[in-house]
Amino acid sequence: MKFDKIKNDEKKYIMNTYGRFNAALESGKGSRALDCDGREYIDFTSGIGVNSLGWCDDGWVKAVSEQAGRLQHISNLYTSPVQVECAKLLCEKTGFSKVFFSNSGAEANECAIKLARKYSFDNYGDGRNEIISLKNSFHGRTVTTLAATGQDVFHNYFFPFTEGFVFAEANNIDSVSSLICGKTCAVMMELIQGEGGVMPLDKDFVLAVERLCRENDLCLIIDEVQTGVGRTGTLYCFESYGIEPDILTSAKGLGGGLPFGACMCSERLSAVLTPGTHATTYGGNPVVCAGSIEVLKRVGDPDFLKAVREKGEYIKGKILKMNGVSDVRGLGMMIGIVLEKDNAREVVEKCLENGLLVLTAKNLVRLLPPLNISYEDIDRGLEILEGAI
Ligand SMILES: *Cc1c(COP(=O)(O)O)cnc(C)c1O
Repeated sequence: MKFDKIKNDEKKYIMNTYGRFNAALESGKGSRALDCDGREYIDFTSGIGVNSLGWCDDGWVKAVSEQAGRLQHISNLYTSPVQVECAKLLCEKTGFSKVFFSNSGAEANECAIKLARKYSFDNYGDGRNEIISLKNSFHGRTVTTLAATGQDVFHNYFFPFTEGFVFAEANNIDSVSSLICGKTCAVMMELIQGEGGVMPLDKDFVLAVERLCRENDLCLIIDEVQTGVGRTGTLYCFESYGIEPDILTSAKGLGGGLPFGACMCSERLSAVLTPGTHATTYGGNPVVCAGSIEVLKRVGDPDFLKAVREKGEYIKGKILKMNGVSDVRGLGMMIGIVLEKDNAREVVEKCLENGLLVLTAKNLVRLLPPLNISYEDIDRGLEILEGAI
Protein backbone atom coordinates (compact mmCIF):
# COMPACT_ATOMS: atom_id res chain seq x y z
CA MET A 1 0.00 0.00 0.00
CA LYS A 2 1.25 3.45 -0.93
CA PHE A 3 -0.42 4.78 2.22
CA ASP A 4 2.06 3.22 4.65
CA LYS A 5 5.07 4.69 2.88
CA ILE A 6 3.51 8.17 2.76
CA LYS A 7 2.48 7.89 6.42
CA ASN A 8 6.06 7.02 7.41
CA ASP A 9 7.43 10.05 5.63
CA GLU A 10 4.72 12.20 7.16
CA LYS A 11 5.78 11.06 10.63
CA LYS A 12 9.39 11.77 9.76
CA TYR A 13 9.03 15.22 8.22
CA ILE A 14 5.86 16.93 9.43
CA MET A 15 5.42 18.31 12.93
CA ASN A 16 3.01 16.14 14.82
CA THR A 17 0.23 18.70 15.37
CA TYR A 18 -2.78 16.83 13.93
CA GLY A 19 -4.65 13.75 15.09
CA ARG A 20 -5.17 12.69 11.50
CA PHE A 21 -7.56 10.08 10.14
CA ASN A 22 -6.16 7.21 8.11
CA ALA A 23 -6.59 8.46 4.55
CA ALA A 24 -4.21 10.12 2.11
CA LEU A 25 -6.38 11.88 -0.45
CA GLU A 26 -4.93 12.40 -3.88
CA SER A 27 -7.60 13.56 -6.32
CA GLY A 28 -11.26 14.42 -6.42
CA LYS A 29 -14.21 15.81 -8.32
CA GLY A 30 -17.37 17.25 -6.79
CA SER A 31 -18.13 15.36 -3.60
CA ARG A 32 -16.04 12.28 -4.43
CA ALA A 33 -12.33 11.80 -3.82
CA LEU A 34 -9.79 9.04 -4.34
CA ASP A 35 -7.04 8.17 -1.89
CA CYS A 36 -3.50 7.19 -2.84
CA ASP A 37 -4.52 3.53 -3.11
CA GLY A 38 -7.51 4.22 -5.35
CA ARG A 39 -10.28 3.94 -2.73
CA GLU A 40 -13.25 6.27 -3.24
CA TYR A 41 -14.83 8.48 -0.58
CA ILE A 42 -17.96 10.60 -0.44
CA ASP A 43 -17.31 13.96 1.15
CA PHE A 44 -19.39 15.41 3.98
CA THR A 45 -16.58 17.75 5.12
CA SER A 46 -15.64 20.18 2.31
CA GLY A 47 -12.20 20.24 3.95
CA ILE A 48 -13.85 21.72 7.10
CA GLY A 49 -16.19 23.99 5.22
CA VAL A 50 -13.64 25.22 2.70
CA ASN A 51 -14.49 23.63 -0.65
CA SER A 52 -17.87 25.36 -1.02
CA LEU A 53 -18.29 24.06 -4.58
CA GLY A 54 -16.73 20.69 -3.90
CA TRP A 55 -13.48 19.41 -5.33
CA CYS A 56 -12.14 20.84 -8.55
CA ASP A 57 -15.36 22.51 -9.68
CA ASP A 58 -15.02 23.35 -13.40
CA GLY A 59 -15.88 27.05 -13.07
CA TRP A 60 -13.60 27.54 -10.06
CA VAL A 61 -10.68 25.67 -11.68
CA LYS A 62 -11.05 27.77 -14.82
CA ALA A 63 -11.14 31.06 -12.88
CA VAL A 64 -8.13 30.12 -10.76
CA SER A 65 -5.99 28.66 -13.53
CA GLU A 66 -6.67 31.50 -15.95
CA GLN A 67 -5.66 34.02 -13.29
CA ALA A 68 -2.53 31.96 -12.46
CA GLY A 69 -1.56 32.21 -16.11
CA ARG A 70 -2.23 35.94 -16.21
CA LEU A 71 -0.70 37.24 -12.96
CA GLN A 72 -0.19 35.11 -9.83
CA HIS A 73 0.77 37.78 -7.32
CA ILE A 74 1.40 41.47 -7.07
CA SER A 75 2.33 43.38 -3.95
CA ASN A 76 -0.46 45.10 -2.09
CA LEU A 77 1.53 48.26 -2.90
CA TYR A 78 -0.13 48.14 -6.35
CA THR A 79 -3.77 48.05 -7.34
CA SER A 80 -5.12 44.62 -8.21
CA PRO A 81 -8.17 44.77 -10.53
CA VAL A 82 -9.31 41.28 -9.55
CA GLN A 83 -8.99 42.11 -5.82
CA VAL A 84 -11.09 45.25 -6.36
CA GLU A 85 -13.72 43.22 -8.23
CA CYS A 86 -13.84 40.66 -5.41
CA ALA A 87 -14.17 43.38 -2.76
CA LYS A 88 -16.96 45.11 -4.70
CA LEU A 89 -18.87 41.87 -5.08
CA LEU A 90 -18.50 40.98 -1.40
CA CYS A 91 -19.59 44.45 -0.20
CA GLU A 92 -22.54 44.59 -2.61
CA LYS A 93 -23.75 41.15 -1.61
CA THR A 94 -23.39 41.68 2.16
CA GLY A 95 -24.15 45.38 2.62
CA PHE A 96 -20.82 46.05 4.33
CA SER A 97 -18.91 49.17 3.43
CA LYS A 98 -15.28 48.05 3.15
CA VAL A 99 -13.15 44.92 3.41
CA PHE A 100 -9.58 43.95 4.35
CA PHE A 101 -8.42 40.66 2.80
CA SER A 102 -6.28 38.15 4.70
CA ASN A 103 -5.20 34.54 4.23
CA SER A 104 -7.09 32.78 7.00
CA GLY A 105 -9.84 33.00 9.58
CA ALA A 106 -7.46 33.76 12.43
CA GLU A 107 -5.97 36.62 10.44
CA ALA A 108 -9.41 37.98 9.60
CA ASN A 109 -10.17 37.95 13.34
CA GLU A 110 -6.84 39.64 14.13
CA CYS A 111 -7.92 42.42 11.78
CA ALA A 112 -11.32 42.63 13.47
CA ILE A 113 -9.69 42.95 16.90
CA LYS A 114 -7.28 45.65 15.69
CA LEU A 115 -10.12 47.50 14.00
CA ALA A 116 -12.35 47.48 17.10
CA ARG A 117 -9.50 48.55 19.37
CA LYS A 118 -8.38 51.37 17.07
CA TYR A 119 -11.96 52.62 16.67
CA SER A 120 -12.16 52.82 20.43
CA PHE A 121 -8.72 54.41 20.77
CA ASP A 122 -9.57 57.05 18.15
CA ASN A 123 -12.86 57.93 19.86
CA TYR A 124 -12.21 57.35 23.57
CA GLY A 125 -8.42 57.28 23.96
CA ASP A 126 -6.20 54.75 25.71
CA GLY A 127 -7.49 51.97 28.00
CA ARG A 128 -10.85 51.16 26.41
CA ASN A 129 -9.74 47.94 24.76
CA GLU A 130 -11.44 44.97 26.41
CA ILE A 131 -13.35 42.53 24.23
CA ILE A 132 -16.14 40.33 25.53
CA SER A 133 -16.15 36.95 23.85
CA LEU A 134 -18.24 33.87 24.65
CA LYS A 135 -17.40 30.72 26.57
CA ASN A 136 -17.05 27.69 24.30
CA SER A 137 -16.14 29.91 21.32
CA PHE A 138 -13.37 29.37 18.80
CA HIS A 139 -11.63 32.24 17.01
CA GLY A 140 -8.30 30.85 15.77
CA ARG A 141 -4.79 29.69 16.64
CA THR A 142 -2.64 32.82 16.74
CA VAL A 143 -1.65 33.96 20.21
CA THR A 144 -4.28 36.73 20.16
CA THR A 145 -7.14 34.70 18.65
CA LEU A 146 -6.40 31.90 21.14
CA ALA A 147 -6.75 34.52 23.85
CA ALA A 148 -10.11 35.47 22.31
CA THR A 149 -11.22 31.83 22.32
CA GLY A 150 -13.39 31.01 25.34
CA GLN A 151 -12.12 27.52 26.10
CA ASP A 152 -9.56 26.86 28.83
CA VAL A 153 -7.94 23.98 26.92
CA PHE A 154 -6.57 26.53 24.45
CA HIS A 155 -5.07 28.74 27.16
CA ASN A 156 -1.99 26.66 27.83
CA TYR A 157 1.77 26.52 27.19
CA PHE A 158 2.10 29.67 25.10
CA PHE A 159 2.06 32.27 27.86
CA PRO A 160 1.81 35.18 27.96
CA PHE A 161 -1.39 35.48 25.94
CA THR A 162 -2.70 38.79 24.64
CA GLU A 163 -4.54 40.69 27.36
CA GLY A 164 -7.98 42.20 27.16
CA PHE A 165 -10.42 39.34 26.66
CA VAL A 166 -13.22 38.38 29.06
CA PHE A 167 -15.79 35.63 28.62
CA ALA A 168 -19.55 35.63 28.96
CA GLU A 169 -21.97 32.72 28.96
CA ALA A 170 -23.60 32.12 25.58
CA ASN A 171 -27.37 32.74 25.60
CA ASN A 172 -27.17 34.58 28.94
CA ILE A 173 -27.57 38.32 28.40
CA ASP A 174 -27.00 39.17 32.07
CA SER A 175 -23.63 37.51 31.83
CA VAL A 176 -22.74 39.81 28.90
CA SER A 177 -24.10 43.00 30.46
CA SER A 178 -22.36 42.34 33.79
CA LEU A 179 -19.00 42.33 31.97
CA ILE A 180 -19.55 45.67 30.23
CA CYS A 181 -17.56 48.45 31.88
CA GLY A 182 -15.57 51.57 30.97
CA LYS A 183 -12.85 49.38 29.46
CA THR A 184 -15.09 47.46 27.05
CA CYS A 185 -14.75 48.16 23.31
CA ALA A 186 -16.38 45.19 21.59
CA VAL A 187 -18.33 41.95 21.76
CA MET A 188 -17.08 39.14 19.56
CA MET A 189 -19.02 35.95 18.84
CA GLU A 190 -19.93 33.18 16.43
CA LEU A 191 -23.67 32.84 15.71
CA ILE A 192 -23.33 29.07 15.65
CA GLN A 193 -20.35 27.92 17.67
CA GLY A 194 -18.75 25.49 15.25
CA GLU A 195 -15.73 23.93 16.93
CA GLY A 196 -17.63 24.27 20.22
CA GLY A 197 -20.08 21.58 19.08
CA VAL A 198 -22.44 23.22 16.54
CA MET A 199 -24.19 25.34 19.18
CA PRO A 200 -26.55 27.95 17.68
CA LEU A 201 -27.08 31.15 19.68
CA ASP A 202 -30.69 32.10 20.53
CA LYS A 203 -32.10 34.88 18.38
CA ASP A 204 -33.31 36.85 21.43
CA PHE A 205 -29.85 36.70 22.96
CA VAL A 206 -28.16 37.90 19.77
CA LEU A 207 -30.63 40.79 19.37
CA ALA A 208 -30.10 41.76 23.02
CA VAL A 209 -26.31 41.74 22.55
CA GLU A 210 -26.72 43.97 19.51
CA ARG A 211 -28.82 46.38 21.60
CA LEU A 212 -26.16 46.46 24.36
CA CYS A 213 -23.51 47.21 21.74
CA ARG A 214 -25.54 50.14 20.39
CA GLU A 215 -26.26 51.55 23.87
CA ASN A 216 -22.59 51.41 24.87
CA ASP A 217 -20.97 52.16 21.50
CA LEU A 218 -19.29 48.75 21.40
CA CYS A 219 -18.29 47.12 18.12
CA LEU A 220 -20.32 44.00 17.41
CA ILE A 221 -17.87 41.56 15.82
CA ILE A 222 -19.45 38.48 14.27
CA ASP A 223 -17.06 35.63 13.41
CA GLU A 224 -18.55 33.93 10.37
CA VAL A 225 -15.40 32.07 9.41
CA GLN A 226 -17.34 28.80 9.54
CA THR A 227 -20.97 29.93 9.13
CA GLY A 228 -20.35 32.24 6.15
CA VAL A 229 -20.51 31.87 2.38
CA GLY A 230 -23.81 30.03 2.14
CA ARG A 231 -23.01 27.39 4.72
CA THR A 232 -26.17 28.01 6.78
CA GLY A 233 -28.46 28.68 3.81
CA THR A 234 -28.08 32.46 3.57
CA LEU A 235 -24.94 34.08 2.18
CA TYR A 236 -24.03 34.99 5.78
CA CYS A 237 -25.69 33.67 8.91
CA PHE A 238 -26.28 37.14 10.42
CA GLU A 239 -29.02 37.64 7.81
CA SER A 240 -31.16 35.00 9.50
CA TYR A 241 -30.68 36.69 12.90
CA GLY A 242 -31.75 40.09 11.53
CA ILE A 243 -28.77 41.97 13.01
CA GLU A 244 -26.33 44.48 11.56
CA PRO A 245 -22.82 43.63 12.77
CA ASP A 246 -20.19 46.38 12.79
CA ILE A 247 -17.50 43.91 11.81
CA LEU A 248 -17.89 40.55 10.08
CA THR A 249 -15.12 38.03 9.50
CA SER A 250 -15.16 35.35 6.83
CA ALA A 251 -12.69 32.71 5.61
CA LYS A 252 -13.01 28.92 5.13
CA GLY A 253 -15.58 28.69 2.29
CA LEU A 254 -14.74 32.12 0.90
CA GLY A 255 -11.85 31.00 -1.32
CA GLY A 256 -13.49 27.75 -2.40
CA GLY A 257 -10.29 25.88 -1.50
CA LEU A 258 -7.50 28.45 -1.49
CA PRO A 259 -6.35 30.31 1.65
CA PHE A 260 -8.50 33.40 1.99
CA GLY A 261 -10.05 35.53 4.69
CA ALA A 262 -11.94 38.81 4.87
CA CYS A 263 -12.70 41.32 7.58
CA MET A 264 -15.64 43.49 6.55
CA CYS A 265 -16.88 46.58 8.34
CA SER A 266 -19.77 49.01 8.34
CA GLU A 267 -19.57 52.59 7.07
CA ARG A 268 -18.94 53.89 10.61
CA LEU A 269 -15.67 51.94 10.85
CA SER A 270 -14.54 52.22 7.26
CA ALA A 271 -11.91 54.94 7.83
CA VAL A 272 -10.39 53.52 11.04
CA LEU A 273 -7.52 51.56 9.49
CA THR A 274 -5.14 53.84 7.60
CA PRO A 275 -1.84 53.29 5.71
CA GLY A 276 0.72 51.70 8.01
CA THR A 277 -1.80 50.40 10.59
CA HIS A 278 -2.43 47.02 8.98
CA ALA A 279 -1.06 45.01 6.06
CA THR A 280 -0.34 41.58 4.64
CA THR A 281 1.94 40.23 1.92
CA TYR A 282 -0.42 37.65 0.42
CA GLY A 283 -3.90 38.76 1.51
CA GLY A 284 -6.13 39.41 -1.48
CA ASN A 285 -3.87 37.46 -3.82
CA PRO A 286 -5.18 37.66 -7.43
CA VAL A 287 -5.50 33.89 -7.95
CA VAL A 288 -7.40 33.46 -4.69
CA CYS A 289 -9.64 36.44 -5.50
CA ALA A 290 -10.43 35.06 -8.97
CA GLY A 291 -11.59 31.79 -7.37
CA SER A 292 -13.56 33.64 -4.72
CA ILE A 293 -15.42 35.73 -7.31
CA GLU A 294 -16.64 32.48 -8.87
CA VAL A 295 -17.69 31.18 -5.43
CA LEU A 296 -19.52 34.38 -4.46
CA LYS A 297 -21.37 34.66 -7.78
CA ARG A 298 -22.56 31.07 -7.63
CA VAL A 299 -23.24 30.70 -3.89
CA GLY A 300 -24.74 34.20 -3.70
CA ASP A 301 -27.49 33.22 -6.15
CA PRO A 302 -30.85 32.99 -4.31
CA ASP A 303 -31.72 29.66 -6.00
CA PHE A 304 -28.41 28.16 -4.91
CA LEU A 305 -29.01 29.27 -1.31
CA LYS A 306 -32.56 27.91 -1.37
CA ALA A 307 -31.14 24.55 -2.47
CA VAL A 308 -28.68 24.63 0.45
CA ARG A 309 -31.56 25.17 2.89
CA GLU A 310 -33.57 22.35 1.30
CA LYS A 311 -30.66 19.91 1.32
CA GLY A 312 -29.94 20.82 4.93
CA GLU A 313 -33.53 20.07 5.94
CA TYR A 314 -33.48 16.85 3.94
CA ILE A 315 -30.28 15.66 5.63
CA LYS A 316 -31.50 16.63 9.11
CA GLY A 317 -34.83 14.86 8.58
CA LYS A 318 -33.15 11.64 7.53
CA ILE A 319 -30.64 11.71 10.38
CA LEU A 320 -33.31 12.34 13.02
CA LYS A 321 -34.93 9.06 11.97
CA MET A 322 -31.73 7.05 12.48
CA ASN A 323 -31.31 4.72 15.44
CA GLY A 324 -28.68 5.89 17.89
CA VAL A 325 -29.21 9.60 17.20
CA SER A 326 -30.59 11.73 20.04
CA ASP A 327 -30.49 15.21 18.47
CA VAL A 328 -29.47 17.15 15.36
CA ARG A 329 -28.35 20.79 15.61
CA GLY A 330 -27.32 23.47 13.15
CA LEU A 331 -28.61 25.43 10.21
CA GLY A 332 -28.44 24.80 6.46
CA MET A 333 -25.58 22.43 5.75
CA MET A 334 -23.76 23.03 9.03
CA ILE A 335 -25.00 20.03 10.95
CA GLY A 336 -24.09 18.53 14.32
CA ILE A 337 -25.32 15.10 15.35
CA VAL A 338 -25.69 14.21 19.02
CA LEU A 339 -25.31 10.47 19.45
CA GLU A 340 -26.92 8.35 22.13
CA LYS A 341 -23.56 6.71 22.80
CA ASP A 342 -20.63 9.07 23.35
CA ASN A 343 -18.63 7.59 20.45
CA ALA A 344 -18.35 10.27 17.76
CA ARG A 345 -14.69 9.60 16.96
CA GLU A 346 -15.41 5.89 16.59
CA VAL A 347 -18.35 6.61 14.24
CA VAL A 348 -16.20 8.96 12.14
CA GLU A 349 -13.49 6.30 11.82
CA LYS A 350 -16.06 3.68 10.85
CA CYS A 351 -17.46 6.04 8.18
CA LEU A 352 -13.97 6.52 6.78
CA GLU A 353 -13.42 2.76 6.56
CA ASN A 354 -16.67 2.54 4.61
CA GLY A 355 -15.91 5.40 2.23
CA LEU A 356 -17.42 8.51 3.83
CA LEU A 357 -15.61 11.56 5.18
CA VAL A 358 -17.27 13.23 8.19
CA LEU A 359 -15.98 15.39 11.05
CA THR A 360 -16.34 15.67 14.80
CA ALA A 361 -17.00 18.80 16.85
CA LYS A 362 -16.55 18.15 20.57
CA ASN A 363 -18.56 14.94 21.15
CA LEU A 364 -20.75 15.43 18.08
CA VAL A 365 -20.46 14.11 14.56
CA ARG A 366 -20.32 17.18 12.34
CA LEU A 367 -21.30 17.41 8.68
CA LEU A 368 -20.19 20.24 6.38
CA PRO A 369 -20.93 18.81 2.92
CA PRO A 370 -20.02 20.70 -0.25
CA LEU A 371 -22.85 23.18 -0.82
CA ASN A 372 -23.59 21.80 -4.30
CA ILE A 373 -23.55 18.10 -3.35
CA SER A 374 -26.09 15.97 -5.26
CA TYR A 375 -29.01 14.19 -3.58
CA GLU A 376 -27.56 10.94 -4.89
CA ASP A 377 -24.31 11.49 -2.97
CA ILE A 378 -26.23 12.72 0.08
CA ASP A 379 -28.22 9.46 0.12
CA ARG A 380 -25.15 7.26 -0.36
CA GLY A 381 -23.29 9.12 2.36
CA LEU A 382 -26.20 8.94 4.79
CA GLU A 383 -26.49 5.20 4.25
CA ILE A 384 -22.84 4.79 5.27
CA LEU A 385 -23.35 7.11 8.23
CA GLU A 386 -26.40 5.18 9.43
CA GLY A 387 -24.46 1.92 9.24
CA ALA A 388 -21.58 3.41 11.23
CA ILE A 389 -23.82 4.79 13.97
C1 LIG B 1 -11.81 27.78 11.58
C2 LIG B 1 -12.23 28.95 12.37
C3 LIG B 1 -11.34 30.00 12.66
C4 LIG B 1 -9.88 29.93 12.28
O1 LIG B 1 -9.69 29.94 10.90
P1 LIG B 1 -8.24 29.56 10.29
O2 LIG B 1 -8.41 29.78 8.82
O3 LIG B 1 -7.97 28.15 10.67
O4 LIG B 1 -7.26 30.51 10.89
C5 LIG B 1 -11.82 31.09 13.33
N1 LIG B 1 -13.10 31.19 13.71
C6 LIG B 1 -13.99 30.19 13.45
C7 LIG B 1 -15.42 30.36 13.87
C8 LIG B 1 -13.59 29.04 12.79
O5 LIG B 1 -14.46 28.05 12.56
